Amino acid sequence: MTELSPMMRHYQEMKERYNDCIILYRLGDFYEMFFEDAQLCSRVLGLTLTARGCGGDKKAPMCGIPAKAVENYLQKLIDANLKVAICEQLTDAKEGAVERDVIRIITPGTLIDSQLLDGSTNNFLSVVFVKDSKMGVSYVDISTGELYMTEFDSNIDTELNNLFSRITPKEVIANDKVKSIEDKLPVVTTQLVPNFSYILQDKFELNECEQLLLNQLKVKDLKSFDCVNKKLGIVATGVLLRYIQDTQKRDLSHINKITYVDNNQNMQIDSFSRRNLELIENQRDRGKKGSLLWVLDKTKTSMGKRTIRNFINNPLVNETEINYRLNGVEELVKNIVYRESLKELLNSVYDIERLSGKISYNNINPKDCVALCDSLKCVPKIKEVLSKFSSKILIDLSQQLSNLDNVAEMLDCAIDRECTSNTKDGNFIKEGFNEELDRLSNIKKNSAESLAQLESTEKELTGIKNLKIGYNRVFGYYIEVTKSALSQVPYRYIRKQTLTGAERFITDELKELEDQIIHAAERKMELELELFKLIRTKLLEHIDEFQCTARALGVIDTLTSFATVAVEKNYVKPIVSKGNKKLEIIGGRHPIVECVLKNDFVANDTLLNDTDSRTMLITGPNMAGKSTYMRQVALITLMTQIGSFVPAKSAKISIVDRIFTRIGASDDLLFGQSTFMVEMLEVSNILKSATNRSLILLDEIGRGTSTFDGLSIAWAVMEYIANNYNCKTLFSTHFHELTELEGRLDGVKNYKVSVKEYNDSIIFLRKIVRGSANQSFGIEVASLAELPIDVINRAKIILHSLEKHDLNRDIVSNSIDIDSTLEQKEMENRKVTSQIIGILKDLDINTLTPLNAFDVLIQLKNYIKD
Ligand code: ADP
Repeated sequence: MTELSPMMRHYQEMKERYNDCIILYRLGDFYEMFFEDAQLCSRVLGLTLTARGCGGDKKAPMCGIPAKAVENYLQKLIDANLKVAICEQLTDAKEGAVERDVIRIITPGTLIDSQLLDGSTNNFLSVVFVKDSKMGVSYVDISTGELYMTEFDSNIDTELNNLFSRITPKEVIANDKVKSIEDKLPVVTTQLVPNFSYILQDKFELNECEQLLLNQLKVKDLKSFDCVNKKLGIVATGVLLRYIQDTQKRDLSHINKITYVDNNQNMQIDSFSRRNLELIENQRDRGKKGSLLWVLDKTKTSMGKRTIRNFINNPLVNETEINYRLNGVEELVKNIVYRESLKELLNSVYDIERLSGKISYNNINPKDCVALCDSLKCVPKIKEVLSKFSSKILIDLSQQLSNLDNVAEMLDCAIDRECTSNTKDGNFIKEGFNEELDRLSNIKKNSAESLAQLESTEKELTGIKNLKIGYNRVFGYYIEVTKSALSQVPYRYIRKQTLTGAERFITDELKELEDQIIHAAERKMELELELFKLIRTKLLEHIDEFQCTARALGVIDTLTSFATVAVEKNYVKPIVSKGNKKLEIIGGRHPIVECVLKNDFVANDTLLNDTDSRTMLITGPNMAGKSTYMRQVALITLMTQIGSFVPAKSAKISIVDRIFTRIGASDDLLFGQSTFMVEMLEVSNILKSATNRSLILLDEIGRGTSTFDGLSIAWAVMEYIANNYNCKTLFSTHFHELTELEGRLDGVKNYKVSVKEYNDSIIFLRKIVRGSANQSFGIEVASLAELPIDVINRAKIILHSLEKHDLNRDIVSNSIDIDSTLEQKEMENRKVTSQIIGILKDLDINTLTPLNAFDVLIQLKNYIKD
C-alpha cells in the first residue's frame, strides 16, 4: 500500500477511533469527507464526489461542505440516522502544521443546536438497563438540561413501551439483556424509536456510575434527589452521563439536577390508549392537527409548547395538585385584561431554557444574547402582572421568576442589536462598552477619512489627477498610477505591482497607515472575542436562575393557554373529587370533534358512580356517535387531571388512576398485527392492568371475528370486569344481545344513541338516552354510504330470510336461556315429585287390593315417563 500523506494518516487515525461516525474533517473553509464516508454522504447530501491525492499517486474519494452552512447538512445526516464526528482545526495554518481533533460527536439524541431542534418538543436520549427482570431507565434532554430517572419492577416491556410512547426518545442505548425482550417492544421493532443500540453489560458498573452522577450534580450524595436506593436507575444514568461526556467532550454544567419519576404520581395511559385518544398526534398521519394538543395549545413560547405537551402526557392523580392548577386557570379565565397582557409579554420571550443550554455548552452567539436580553427584560413585567393574582400557583410561579434586570442591562450595553449570529463576522460589541475597543474601532472608522486625505495630498504633491488609493487582500493598500502619468511618480514611491495599464506603489506613510488599520482590525476582533468570553462567564453564573425562570414561564404560558381556550370554546371548571365516586358530566362535548363541527355538535350527559351505574352499555348503529361519546368522557376526565377546564355545562370528575381504551378496529400495519390480534392484545392489557379507580372504554370489542366468537368474547369480558373491578366502564356494542346484562350484572345500565327512522332511511340524532337499540340499522347505514341499490335490496332480502329462520337468535338465545330452561325442568321435577308423594301418602296399604296396587303403579310410572 502506498504511504499515506501525513494529513491522510491523521484522518485515518480519527476514523479508526470514531469508526461508527462520519468524520467531517476541517480543511480551511470546508469540512471534507473521504473514502467510504464521502461515497455515502455524497448520496445522502446530494454532493459531487471528487478525489484528492492522499499520498503517492493514490487518490481518495472526497466530498465537502462549506463550514458556514454546516448546520443544513448536519440536519440531513442526522435525519439519515448517522452519527457525525466534527474534526476541527485547532491551530492556525500560519503557525505551521495544522493540528486537528474531534471536538464533538453529534448524534440524534445529543442535539443542542437550535437549527437542528424542534422547539416544541424535548429531544431525549435514553439509557435502559435491565437486570433480574427489573429495569432502570434514564433520559436527558441536553438542550434544556432536564435529566430524569425511573425504575420498573414488573411488566418491564409494557412499562417501557408506555414510557417511550410518552417521551419518544430520539436515541436509546441499552444493555444486552434488553435484547431478550426486544420482540415485545413495538416501539423498537417498528423503529418508532430510531437509533436503538446496545452496549456491553460490563459498562454498567454501579460504583463508577454513581460517582459519575455525583460529579455531574456536584453533590456528595443523592439524598436531595429521591433516588438514593435506585440502583438500576443510577446505573442507567451513569452510562448516559458517560455517553454524553464522550460525545460532547465538554462540561455540561446546566445538567445540575435529576428528577426521579415515580410512575404512581401520574395517571397511567398505555401506548395503545395514548394513540387511540389522539392526545399529541392524530392516528391518521401522526401530525398534531386533530389531536388534543392541537386544541389546547395556544402557548406563545417554546418553553410553553414543551410544558403543555408534558402536561398532556402526564395527567395528575392528586386532587390538591389538580386544583392547584385549576384555580390558577380560573383566575386567568376571569381576568381578561391581565390574561391578554401576559399573552402579549410571553410573545416576546425566546427559549431561555435552551439558550441557557447553549451558554453552558459554549455555543451561544451574539444574536442569542440579544434574544436572551429581550426575554429577560419581559420577566419583571410578567412578574408585575402576576402580582395581581391571588391563586397559590400564580403566586408561586411569580416567585420562581428571577429578577435578572442587571444581566439584561449588561447584555444591552454589550451587544450590538445589528450583529450577526457568527462571532467571526465581528462588530457585535456595542460602542461604549469597552474603551480600548472604541479606540480600535475609531482607527478603523477614521481610516477611510485618513486614506481619502492621503489620496488628495498625494494628488496635490505629485500633480497626478487620477491617482487613487486602493486595497486588495494580497498586496494590501497601494497607490495606483496609470501608465500615462508614470513620469510624474516621485522617488519615494516604492513599486508593488504592475498591471497592464497601471502601476501600483506604496509609500512609508501609506504603509504606516496600513499597519495601523490592519493591526487595529485584528486586535479589535481578538478583543471582541475576549469580551464575549467574559460575558459568557457572567451568564454562566446565572444558569440556575435562567432554568428556573424558563420552567416557570413554561407553566405560566401553559396555564394562560388553558384559560384562553376555555374562554374561546366555552369550557367550565370541573369539580374534582378523589376516591371512586361520581362522574357527572352535563352537556359534555368532544373537544376535538366540536372544533370541526362547531355548532352542529350535540352535547350529551354522562352519569356514572361506584354502585348501581358503573358500566354504560351503549348500543346504536354504526356512525351514530358511540366512539365519539366514549372518547369525550375520557378526554374530559383527562383534561381535568391536567388542570384544564372542560367542554361541558358542568362536570364533576372523580380522579382516575388509569384510562384504558379499546376503540375502533384499525389495523395496525405499522406494528405488523391484524385488527383482531391488536384488539385482543389491547383487551388483554386492560383486563390485566385495570384497578378499581380506572376508566375503561371498550368500543365494539369482538368485531374482528365471527358473530358468535365476538359476542361470546364481549359477553365474557363484560362479566369479568363487572365481577373483578369496581371501576367505571363505557362499553359500546352492536351486539344488542348484550343488553340482557342489565339487571343480571351489577352496575350495568343500558344506553342507546337515538336515531330516527325516516322512510327507508335513518337520521342520526347523536343523543345518548337510556334504553337499548333493537336493531343495528347496518343496511340503512350502508345505504347512506351509497352502496349500489342492488346490493342494498339484496341485503334486505337476505336479512329478512335470516330473521325468519332466526338462525343467530336461536343459537344465541339457547346459550342465553340455558339457565331458565334448567329452572323450568327443576320446577317440573319438583311438581312431579310432590304429586308422587301425595299419591303415596294417600295410599292405605291395609285395604289395598293387588289389582289397585297394580293401577297405582301404572299411575306413578306415567308421571316419570318422560
Ligand atoms: P360510531 O362509533 O357510533 O360508529 P362515531 O362516534 O365514529 O360513531 O361518530 C361518527 C361521526 O358522527 C363522527 O365522525 C362525527 O362527525 C359525528 N358525531 C359523533 N358524535 C356527534 C355528536 N355528539 N354531535 C354531532 N356529530 C357527532
